[in-house]
Amino acid sequence: MTDTGAGAQIIDGKEIAKLVRAEWKLRVDRLLQAGVKPGLAVIIVGDNPASAIYVKNKVKACSDIGIYSEVHSFPKDANQQDVLDCIRALNDNPHIHGILVQLPLPPQFENNRVITSIAVEKDVDGFHLYNVGALVTGNTIFAPCTPFGVMVMLDRHAIPIEGRHAVVVGRSNIVGKPMALMLLERGATVTICTSKTRDLAQFTRNADILVVATGKSRMINAGMVKSGAVVIDVGINRLSDGTLCGDVDFDSVKKVAGFITPVPGGVGPMTITMLLCNTILAAERALAGAKIQ
Ligand code: NDP
Repeated sequence: MTDTGAGAQIIDGKEIAKLVRAEWKLRVDRLLQAGVKPGLAVIIVGDNPASAIYVKNKVKACSDIGIYSEVHSFPKDANQQDVLDCIRALNDNPHIHGILVQLPLPPQFENNRVITSIAVEKDVDGFHLYNVGALVTGNTIFAPCTPFGVMVMLDRHAIPIEGRHAVVVGRSNIVGKPMALMLLERGATVTICTSKTRDLAQFTRNADILVVATGKSRMINAGMVKSGAVVIDVGINRLSDGTLCGDVDFDSVKKVAGFITPVPGGVGPMTITMLLCNTILAAERALAGAKIQ
């Protein structure tokens, strides 16, 4: 925890990610002792440069913690059936415990058809419709990595959630919606705002915990934040000068918030960390012979 001397305490995602990885490395070691090396397969279709970087980072993070990983690359004009066949083979491969398909897929692909072809117990992104249903009903199998990472950040700082008013700005399937559900499950009163929300500030100013995932650079300013609020900035936006910024105007908001995450170095490092955790969890369940469905 860092005190900036100018208001908010910084929630340091890099530091928390390091601690979490060190703890989960011990679980990898226990699996190795039991003869199981956790394995992750990543499927990438097309040549989206951002996706290629994400995949490279995931592969490196796996190697650092002792997880085996393999990448299956398909050209952007690939046939969906070839990808489905690849997933089927990975579902049957006992050395692979986690499978993820790097999104977005090219337009000719049916996202849900591809994602739901992943075995539920290997769906470490938590995007399979069965896993989404499990999350909705409070029986989480794999929590989606970004909101999972946010929850870990809140818990590491012992930030109370129950009874608090949490406002989530953004309703995507990978961040906003699962984030809102996870906060709800922990007893927060949750408001979800979108681009259609009228007078956004009226909601954000009432948030004890404000999570912003819009992809709109610095759209949340100090006037939109309650004094002492916890502000979690999920956004990653590249500015014209090449630098990164979040959806929150960090410099002004840190003067009024109680806690704030920076960009970069906030939620970003947690997302990959939670992917590693989910893969290790999948390997532990496989070793224990746990049946999910
Ligand atoms: P999406 O584009 O899928 O969703 C954005 C959401 O924000 C939509 O629900 C949209 O509303 C809402 N929104 C857009 N503009 C406004 C506005 N002016 N006021 C209120 N709501 C608004 O994005 P993602 O959820 O995938 O990602 C959001 C951001 O988080 C991006 O910057 C992305 O790069 C980043 N990200 C970071 C991750 C990390 O690891 N740190 C992981 C994943 C994403 P509507 O539905 O009405 O259109």
